[in-house]
Amino acid sequence: MEYKETLLMPKTKFPMRGNLPNKEPVRRDQWFEDKVYEKGLEKNKDNPSYILHDGPPFANGDLHAGHALNNILKDFITRYKSMTGFYAPIIPGWDTHGLPIETALTKNKKVKRSEISVAEFRRLCAEYAWKQIERQKEQRIQLGMRGDWDHPYITLTKDYEAAQIRVFGEMAKKGFIYKGLRPVHWSPSSESALAEAEIEYHDKRSPSIYVSFEVTDGKDLLQAGDNIIIWTTTPWTLPANLGISLHPDLEYNVVEVDGERYVIAHDLLDAIANELDWEDPEIVQSFVGKKADRIVAKHPFYDRDSLVMLGNHVTIDAGTGCVHTAPGHGDDDFYVCKEYGIDPLSPVDDKGYLTSEAPGFSGLFYDEANKPITELLEEKGALLKLSFIKHSYPHDWRTKKPTITRATSQWFASIKAFRDEILAEIKEVEWLPAWGETRMYNMFRDREDWCISRQRSWGVPIPVFYAEDGTPIITDETIAHVEQLFAEHGSNIWFEKDAMDLLPEGFTHPNSPNGTFTKEEDIMDVWFDSGSSHEAVLCQREGQRRPADVYLEGSDQYRGWFNSSLTTSVAISGKAPYKNVISHGMVLDGKGKKMSKSLGNIMLPSKVIKQYGADILRLWVSSVDYQGDVRISDEILRQVSESYRKIRNTFRFMLGNIADFDPAVDRVALEDLEEVDRYMYYRLQGQIDAVRASYEKFEFSSVYHDIHDFCAVELSSFYLDFAKDILYIEAKDHHRRRSIQTVYYDTLVALVQLLTPILPHTMEEVWEYIPGDTEDYVQLTTIPEPTQVYTDDVQLEKWRLFMEVRDDVLKALEEARDEKMIGKSLESKVTLVPKTKEIADVLASIPYLHQMLIVSEAEVAEECAEAKDYKHVAVFVEKHDGEVCERCWVSANTVGENKKHPTLCVRCADVVEENYV
Ligand SMILES: [Zn+2]
Repeated sequence: MEYKETLLMPKTKFPMRGNLPNKEPVRRDQWFEDKVYEKGLEKNKDNPSYILHDGPPFANGDLHAGHALNNILKDFITRYKSMTGFYAPIIPGWDTHGLPIETALTKNKKVKRSEISVAEFRRLCAEYAWKQIERQKEQRIQLGMRGDWDHPYITLTKDYEAAQIRVFGEMAKKGFIYKGLRPVHWSPSSESALAEAEIEYHDKRSPSIYVSFEVTDGKDLLQAGDNIIIWTTTPWTLPANLGISLHPDLEYNVVEVDGERYVIAHDLLDAIANELDWEDPEIVQSFVGKKADRIVAKHPFYDRDSLVMLGNHVTIDAGTGCVHTAPGHGDDDFYVCKEYGIDPLSPVDDKGYLTSEAPGFSGLFYDEANKPITELLEEKGALLKLSFIKHSYPHDWRTKKPTITRATSQWFASIKAFRDEILAEIKEVEWLPAWGETRMYNMFRDREDWCISRQRSWGVPIPVFYAEDGTPIITDETIAHVEQLFAEHGSNIWFEKDAMDLLPEGFTHPNSPNGTFTKEEDIMDVWFDSGSSHEAVLCQREGQRRPADVYLEGSDQYRGWFNSSLTTSVAISGKAPYKNVISHGMVLDGKGKKMSKSLGNIMLPSKVIKQYGADILRLWVSSVDYQGDVRISDEILRQVSESYRKIRNTFRFMLGNIADFDPAVDRVALEDLEEVDRYMYYRLQGQIDAVRASYEKFEFSSVYHDIHDFCAVELSSFYLDFAKDILYIEAKDHHRRRSIQTVYYDTLVALVQLLTPILPHTMEEVWEYIPGDTEDYVQLTTIPEPTQVYTDDVQLEKWRLFMEVRDDVLKALEEARDEKMIGKSLESKVTLVPKTKEIADVLASIPYLHQMLIVSEAEVAEECAEAKDYKHVAVFVEKHDGEVCERCWVSANTVGENKKHPTLCVRCADVVEENYV
C-alpha cells in the first residue's frame, strides 16, 4: 500500500503566481459588467454615508506616481468604509481650465491664437481637455480605483459652471467681491496676475543699490540738503517711487561723513558704514522715527517729491531703516501710501515693459531697466553703492520665470471680511498630519485679499457687466440670468454674444441712459473653479453632502484646493466644506530625488502596472508612511512583490487545507474548539480589532505591517506549521482536524476581507476559491467586528505563557541544530524543567505538547542535569530514540507494533486501518 495516498495533503487550484498584469484587467471588466460598485452602494443605501470628495486632477498628461499614491489612498478609504457598512459614493473629478491647456494648444498643437476667435479657441481647449480626461480616466481605473466613472464631475460642464457662477454671485451679494487697483503678483511671462498659490521661490541674482534722497523740507527736524538713504534690489521700481517709509518707534541718526549728512536707522549704522566704506561716521543728531513724519525729499532723478511716511512694516533686518516706497509695486507700500492719500503708480505694462509714465525708460523690459537707472543715479550723484546679491525671489510656478509686483485693476475676493470665520473653522476641522492645522491657520492669518481675475481665455468668465460710465453691475437678477445661460449653453456663450444678449431681457440701469452695456473680459482664477466643487458636487449631486467627511490630497494643496475650497465655502455657507483633511507627501525616486524628465527617473504608474500589477503598486502605497515624502524604485517594488508573494502563499496554503471543509457541515462551534484553536481564534480577533483601528485612523502602513507579521509569525511559523501533523495525518473528519479547519476558514475569510481595500484584485481571486456558500464578491461583504472568545483570562494567560515557553524551546532546538545534535526538530526529544510552579501547571495542561513544539516527544521533568537554562524553562534536547514512521515522519517507539503496517506508528496504523483499507 502506498501510504502517501492516505495523507490529506493541501489541494487547491489557486495559482501560486499572481500573473497580475494579465488577470487584473479581466477582473475589472467583470466588476463593471456586474455593476459591483453600484451593488455596494445599494447594499448600504439606508446606512449612514461616508463622503470622500475627490480633488480633481488637472486634465493634462499622463498620471504620475503622485496621482497614483493619491488615488490609491482614496480608494483604501472608500473601500474600507463601504465594507464596514457605510454608503460611500465616489464621484471622480477633473479640473480643466487654465494656462497649461492654452499653452498645450498654442505650443504643441500650433494653434494660431490670433487667427481664431476667443470662442473658437475655447472650443479647441475643451476638446483637448475631454481627450485628456478619457485618457486619465482609463489610467485611474487601472489603479483599481472605484467610482462613478460614467458620471464624473468636470469643471467645464454646464452644470458645474452654473454652480460656480452661483458661488461667485453669493459672494458678491455678501459684499465679498470687489474691483480694485492693487499690487498683485504679476507674471510678465504669463501676462497674467497670479495667486499666492501660483508663486514659488527660487534664487535670483539682483543688483543691490544704496540711493540717497535729498531732503527739501526738513520741517523742524532735518536740514535741507540732508540725505535719506534707501536700499533696494529692484532699481526698476525707482521711477515709481513716491515716498520713503520710516518706522515710527525706531531710533534714527543723522551721521556726518566727509561733510555730507546722512539719515539712517541707528541699529544699522555699523552695517551701513561697512557697506559704504565710511571711515568714522559721526552721529550728529538722533531722533525717533515718528518725528520725521511728512518731511519732504526730492526724487533722485525726477522733478517730484518723495514723502517721508511712517509704517510698521519697516524693519532693521536689512537695508537702512528708510524704505523706498513705490505703492504700485509693493503691498506694504500700497497700504502705507493709502493712509497718506497717495495713489499707486505702476509704469509697467502686461509684458513687463516700462511705460511712458517712466520717462527716459519707456519700452525697456523691467529687468533691463536696472542698468540705465543705476547709471542715471550715478550721474545724479545719488548712487552710494552698487553690488549684486543672490536672494530668494518669487517665480511663476508654471513658466518658472521671475514675477513682479504690479498694481493693476483686478477683481478680488475679500478675505479680510470673513477671515475670523475661516480661522474659527480651521480649528473645527481634523487635520492629518496635525501640523496641517498650523500651516493652514498661519496661511489665512497672514493672507491678503484673493485676486480672482486672470487675463486669459480658457476659464469661467467673471460674470460682471459694466454700465456706460464703467460702473460694474452684479445683481441677483444678472447673476441668476448668467447662471441659467451657462446651465443651458455653457460659459462659451459669454464669448459668443454681446453684453446686451447676455443680460435679462429689458434690463436697464440708471448709469446706462442709452441702454448700452459692456461685459468683463477677464476669467476667474482656476482655483475658484475647483474651489467651488463643494457647491457643484457636494450640494448638487444625489447622495453627497457638505461638509464632506474627508478631502485627501498632496501637501501642496494647503495653498491650493484645500485653501480655495475653504475660502468659498466659508464665504457662502459659514462652514468648512470638510470634516477631515488628510495630506500626503511627494513621490521621490529610490534615492530620494525628485522625479524629472532630465534625471530620467520618472516611474509612470501605467508602466509599473504593466510590469508588476496594480495590486503591487497598491501594496507599496500601503507600506509607506505617506504623510511625508515617499520613495519608489524597481528595487522597492521588488521587495514589495516579495511581501506580496508571502501573503499569497500563506493564503494559498490555507485554501489548500480547507479544500475538503464545508463550513455549513463541518464547522466546529466556538465552545467545542480545541484549546489551541480557540487561542488562535482569539488572536485573530485581536488582529481584526487592530487592523480596523488602523483603517479608522487612516494608518494603512499599520494594516500592512500587522497583516504581514500575523501571516509570517503567528500563522506561518506556528499555527500553519504544527497543524500539518493533524491536517495531513488524521482522518478527514477527525475532530482536531475540523477544529483547525474551522479556525483556518474564519482566519482566511477575515484576512481576505481586511486586505480587500488594499489588494482588491487578489482578494477577489482568493475569494473565488473559498469553499462554501459565500457572497459573489468579497468587496460586497462586511468586515466582521471582533467577537469575544474567552469569558475569563485563565485560558488566555495559559496560552500566552506557553508561547513564551515555546520561544525558549525554539532557541534550544536552534542551538542543538547548530551543534549538529539534531537535524529537523521532529527528530528530537526535549525534556523541559519548569522554573516555577506556574509554568509547571501550564505545561501539565497543554494537550499534545510535543505537537505544539514540533518534536517527537516532549517530557516535563522536575530536574534534568544536562538541561540548559532559558527564561521559563531549562531544556535538554536529544535525538529521539524511536523509529521514524513512514507516514507521519514522527519518531515514535510504537513503529512496528501493528504487524500489518510494520513501518507505521500506532496512530498512523489506526488511521489507515479505519479509513483506507
Ligand atoms: Zn505516523
